[in-house]
Amino acid sequence: MDCSLIRPDLVAYHFGSVEEPSRGAVEAHLVECRECLTVYLALKREIETARASPAPSQAARERLRRAVARETARCPGMSAAPGRWRRPLAFIFAAAASAAALLAVVSVRAQLQQMAQIAAESAARVERHPPARH
Ligand SMILES: [Zn+2]
Repeated sequence: MDCSLIRPDLVAYHFGSVEEPSRGAVEAHLVECRECLTVYLALKREIETARASPAPSQAARERLRRAVARETARCPGMSAAPGRWRRPLAFIFAAAASAAALLAVVSVRAQLQQMAQIAAESAARVERHPPARH
């Protein structure tokens, strides 16, 4: 599989939100591709160390939020029919990963901190607001 197809999935893979058969494809690629393995290990370390470091600045978070919103707007049907989001977390990860790829001016470390932050916030939001029962 192509490196450019694997790399946007590495963050989601790290958080366990990539499902089979994509998960197997990512693992098979990481075993074969030293470059992607290096990227993954760097990313994993950044995510793990980012938990212990100060939260990203408000401006940085706002910038990423806007980028994610831009990605969302580009997906036809997504914003119009939020009820059809079957895997909202996976979508957020994918949007965050591709948004981060667009933010060339932001350092890799800052991007990863933001993605880890978004992932943590998304998980917390889902826990705090379970689907309403009627
Ligand atoms: Zn690769």
